[in-house]
Amino acid sequence: MIGKFWREFGRLIRTATFFLLIFANTPDFTHAHPSDWERRLEHKARRMEGDFYYVGLQQIADILGINTYYSNKVRKAILYVADEKITVSAFNSFVIVGKRVVQMPIPAQYDRDDIQLPVKFFIPILRKVLAGSDEVESNPVDNRTLPVNIEGVSVEDKANGTLIRIRTLAKFEESSMSTRYSRRWLYVDILGGSINPTSFVTLNQSKLIKKVVPVQMTEMLQLSFRVGKEINAEDVQFIEREGELWLSIPKSSGLSRDVVEKLKNDQEKWQIDKVVIDPGHGGRDPGTIGSSGTYEKDVVLAIAKRLKTALEKKLNIEVLMTREDDEYISLKERTQYANKNQGKLFISLHANWNRNPKVNGAATYFLGLAKSDEAIEISQLENAAIKYDDGVEHGDLNEEQIILATMAQNSYNKESQNFAAMIQDELDSETKLRNRGVKQAGFYVMLGASMPNVLVETAFMSNKREERLLNTPGFQKEIAEAIFRSVKRFKEKYEMTAANGR
Ligand SMILES: [Zn+2]
Repeated sequence: MIGKFWREFGRLIRTATFFLLIFANTPDFTHAHPSDWERRLEHKARRMEGDFYYVGLQQIADILGINTYYSNKVRKAILYVADEKITVSAFNSFVIVGKRVVQMPIPAQYDRDDIQLPVKFFIPILRKVLAGSDEVESNPVDNRTLPVNIEGVSVEDKANGTLIRIRTLAKFEESSMSTRYSRRWLYVDILGGSINPTSFVTLNQSKLIKKVVPVQMTEMLQLSFRVGKEINAEDVQFIEREGELWLSIPKSSGLSRDVVEKLKNDQEKWQIDKVVIDPGHGGRDPGTIGSSGTYEKDVVLAIAKRLKTALEKKLNIEVLMTREDDEYISLKERTQYANKNQGKLFISLHANWNRNPKVNGAATYFLGLAKSDEAIEISQLENAAIKYDDGVEHGDLNEEQIILATMAQNSYNKESQNFAAMIQDELDSETKLRNRGVKQAGFYVMLGASMPNVLVETAFMSNKREERLLNTPGFQKEIAEAIFRSVKRFKEKYEMTAANGR
């Protein structure tokens, strides 16, 4: 408790010192003869955060008559000024000019559907770029004024790959991180990252990573990792956690690229000719129970049987079911069964539940870290089925388990996501259910499946209208038809791409 207090206190003092130093070092940007565009920008500026004046990106573009590229999703924009590209991000103080990084003393903001830039600090950058000077003032902060915000790094080999954990004292946005791989070095750049070289802790227990080298630069920390054998840089994933940044490097298949390509071209192997349907719950595990007494395990079995018939009759696909009757099967046994029989697709069928009886609609999940409260709640609900297993450790999947499992099925994750999107699309056109979209979460039942796999939450058992619907043969048929169509679509797309060498 006391220790925590002092740590917090120290952090506060460091942050305060940081800002004091920044402002003390901030050059005076006032310009003797502001040009026309500068006056117009200042005129458009509005007072926002911390009494600073900001101007919207679109207004800058209009005044300068320049083009911009704007991604609303990541709230990042590129301005094309003179021959340079200037990249800015909302809530980020880094401005990237060509290949250089400039740090403004305060970050950009986001308001009125636009990135807002602090006039006082952004105008000097624009001025330099417009004047064609390569001497864009690198930031007014030197590294001694950056507070230490990265404490150490640890590297560990896991069953499915290698996990790099960077311990942080500050929050780093995804936009301030980048990775690069070249000649067996994996470089991780953390903009605004700062270490104390004397107290920085490196703990390397990995066989893959031979060496870890931290290099403090003016605006960023670069961590370089020497790898013992070639890795596929595209597979490296970034995950931001509370107080940590994680990088996962999935284990490569051990096959050379040529062999992998050959396998992928082997059309036989990629025929979607065997589908495993997994009706959720069963036996002593009823799943969710509706207010009129409907059991999830019964309705999902009914839908599964209809889906099986449709796939066999209309697509000539071999269909295996994890259960054909009201029997109990553990979550683990379900994927084991699918793997053993070399299924090409795994579809787990469920009905949803929410404490609010008004909540309704259908959602399809693929394996990954939950990104919303809804996804977390649902995975907890479905994972609770594990309590019916004997001799199994209970409790939820922790993030590490989920990330490692996602790494293991890295090659199927994209396909799973595509398939989930097709299912939602078909459910949308086939039924009147509200489309709750494609989501990701950590479900036990999907762990270890070595094929594309999804979990469909068909409708809400907790919603009176949907509970009634789930019991009607007509509605069960609609759901089965929608999933059937998505399998057909997936099969056509997948087999086609396999034939064309992906
Ligand atoms: Zn369920």
